[in-house]
Amino acid sequence: MPELPEVETVRRALVPAMEDRHISDAFIGRPDLRWPLPPRLGERLTGRRVGPLSRRGKFLLLPLDGGETMLMHLGMSGSVRIHDQRPETGLHDHMILEMQGGIRPQWIVFNDPRRFGWIDLFEGETHPMLADMGPEPLGNSFSAASLSTALDRRTGPIKTALLNQQIVAGIGNIYACEALFGAGLSPRRRAGTICGGRAERLVAAIRSVLQRAIEDGGTSLRDHVQPGGEIGYFVQRLSVYGREGEACHQCDSVIKTITQSGRSSFYCPTCQR
Ligand SMILES: [Zn+2]
Repeated sequence: MPELPEVETVRRALVPAMEDRHISDAFIGRPDLRWPLPPRLGERLTGRRVGPLSRRGKFLLLPLDGGETMLMHLGMSGSVRIHDQRPETGLHDHMILEMQGGIRPQWIVFNDPRRFGWIDLFEGETHPMLADMGPEPLGNSFSAASLSTALDRRTGPIKTALLNQQIVAGIGNIYACEALFGAGLSPRRRAGTICGGRAERLVAAIRSVLQRAIEDGGTSLRDHVQPGGEIGYFVQRLSVYGREGEACHQCDSVIKTITQSGRSSFYCPTCQR
């Protein structure tokens, strides 16, 4: 599932193809994805110029001239491709935008087999989906102090708290597991006990794992944005996620999993306390 680094990777790939260009044609394949799409979406996108692309948590924001902003979420299985030639419409291609105004036209294809993704249009400063979102983990308002305040008196496990977008934005299962390993904290630990040095360690680990993933995403990006090619995600160098039964790189213990709130948590029972 695309998390903050993957969405940021997509944003960076889309900048040269979309920013300061206009949408000359928009194909919308169906009236809904996870939720209904805005009425007449294709018509409303056609002719609009795209401003500076930004990201908030796992959402992409594409400002359009005339004051509206397009909001995109990649859901569980969403991906974006950039083509230099008009592509055939695939079964799960739900939106195709033809971009003009650059050196050559390009086509942006949003594909989502499981349809947990979403596209919306909104006017004004913010969208209701973004209103209660917690701080950006790579931004200045995220700190050990802000994190321990947000976790204060929470009795649930820290792993589940990290997936809560109101506590911190953009983290999903992979990076929650990896950050807890980096901080030496058990996914089972009660969230309310994360303060002081533990909060410092966790904030540093979250930042480091996300930053490394973005840098690696950027690396694979250069290789992968070929005409018609899918935007490549970070080939993850993971410490614990997906490594059940394998040896911990730090201590040789066997990596274990537990289920928490319906999601698998991967951890090292020796390194994480
Ligand atoms: Zn270990």
